[in-house]
Amino acid sequence: MADTQGDQLDIFATAEWDDLPSRSDVSRAKRPWVGIHFECCQVYARIYRDLPEARYDGCCPRCGRRVTLRVGPSGTHARIFRATPA
Ligand SMILES: [Zn+2]
Repeated sequence: MADTQGDQLDIFATAEWDDLPSRSDVSRAKRPWVGIHFECCQVYARIYRDLPEARYDGCCPRCGRRVTLRVGPSGTHARIFRATPA
């Protein structure tokens, strides 16, 4: 995608997480995740929710560029996102 802006990410969808597991179910081993397609390296990876923040943090598995995906208040239920780390 073309409209990158600095080191910001292009997030093409946001998600609403009203189906999150209950608090007791959220452990480090079972954090919610979303699939990210890193356009910098054309690779797919999961990134995990940075509890208790309403965002997901992760790095490109190849080049290590960091992505942050904010959970939108009125997004879609998409599970796959595309990110273009600058
Ligand atoms: Zn990369």
